[in-house]
Amino acid sequence: MMTNHSLTSRDRAVLWHPCTQMKDHETFPIIPIKKAQGVWLEDFEGRRYLDAISSWWVNLFGHAHPAINAALKDQLDTLEQVIFAGFTHEPAVNLAERLLSLTPAGLSRCFFADNGSAAVEVALKMSFHYWKNTGQPQKTRFITLENSYHGETLGALAVGDVALYKDTYSPLLMEVLTVPGPDCYFREPGESWADYSTRRFALMEQTLEAHANSVCAVIIEPLVQCAGYMRMYDPVYLSLLRAACDKYQVHLIADEIAVGFGRTGTLFACEQAAVSPDFMCLSKGLTGGYLPLSAVLTTDKVYQAFYDDYHKLTAFLHSHSYTGNALACRAGLATLDIFQQQPILENNQQLARLMAIAAARFIEHPHVAEVRQTGLIVAIELVKNKRSREPFPWQERRGLKVYQYALAKGVLLRPLGNVIYFMPPYVITAEELSVIATVAWDGIEWAVNG
Ligand code: PMP
Repeated sequence: MMTNHSLTSRDRAVLWHPCTQMKDHETFPIIPIKKAQGVWLEDFEGRRYLDAISSWWVNLFGHAHPAINAALKDQLDTLEQVIFAGFTHEPAVNLAERLLSLTPAGLSRCFFADNGSAAVEVALKMSFHYWKNTGQPQKTRFITLENSYHGETLGALAVGDVALYKDTYSPLLMEVLTVPGPDCYFREPGESWADYSTRRFALMEQTLEAHANSVCAVIIEPLVQCAGYMRMYDPVYLSLLRAACDKYQVHLIADEIAVGFGRTGTLFACEQAAVSPDFMCLSKGLTGGYLPLSAVLTTDKVYQAFYDDYHKLTAFLHSHSYTGNALACRAGLATLDIFQQQPILENNQQLARLMAIAAARFIEHPHVAEVRQTGLIVAIELVKNKRSREPFPWQERRGLKVYQYALAKGVLLRPLGNVIYFMPPYVITAEELSVIATVAWDGIEWAVNG
């Protein structure tokens, strides 16, 4: 019979986990999960963990959701996967139609890939290739924001700016223009998010003005830089950016991989600024957190720039074996059905209020510099010195201590550095939220005094 111990020792003999110094697991065991239901994960001895981070931000409606399970079982007996070049299938067509009807006006084409980083690669290549096909081959560069994250394949890593992921690999990466960002953690005391984000936009405008002729696109995470320590900014920045991209003839790529599907309060974060990007990247919640799938949505204008006789050699060249996987598309359809059949966004407003209440007391903590929230994402910035905001030295790994404490209490929190955040599945209850908040508070106490 499988036990926690037998599985973890076999794991350590053969596996290499993502984003992990494997030596850490000499002292800190990996957690074996046997099954999951709703917001709860369970190991082989019946020990449960509350999934406060939606299993890396993918899960929307809980694990083992009956409707998504049923849809997948049905799909499994019909079609699991077929080559997507030269062939098509019903779940892919249905999903593309429905995504395009739900996303901002102007997006009318859907290109599938199979993970978030791949979607970013597709958007970057498509933007470059659009300009090449339309007689502007000198446009080869991208503008990105300070502290942004767009994935970890080489192209996606190049347009990100989180040192932890990027620095080691920098000799391998294309050069990009990195603009100081609108991250409102750095606003002046008393300054509003909108004022700070507007003020910071001047730096973006300057960069666009100086380099538009060589730039394909600006890539941005709308409203929340999730992997960049859950830093947030005001929607006005997106409105200004859309207008400037039009003015300077540069594409706007909205990476909604983490913030899409209701996380920020609206179905897509771009809606809060009433903007439509030239490319929208979706993944994570796209399948309700069940299967890897991503989509890049774009405009007819972009599509038409590739549409020509074969010998002109203007076709977009990018493919992944599992592009448009039928099971993943079906999970996506079942997820959209839930949004359609239930008042999810309305219910989420109440959930956001509950999250605000659960997080409110953290601002009183002597080692918390800021508590911030956008929709269903709440982040707590842990610092060494509250007044000067001096951070704890990263070597002290205070966030890791919170993680370890929370796991011991049956809650999966996975801080980003010293930022503790809550990003739970939408089916979490008020009681479960208060458990998370209590454990996070006690974990912080333990981590800062240890
Ligand atoms: N973009 C953003 C904004 C993300 O948060 C992530 C994943 N954390 C990615 C891209 C990359 O997605 P994936 O991990 O599926 O490659």
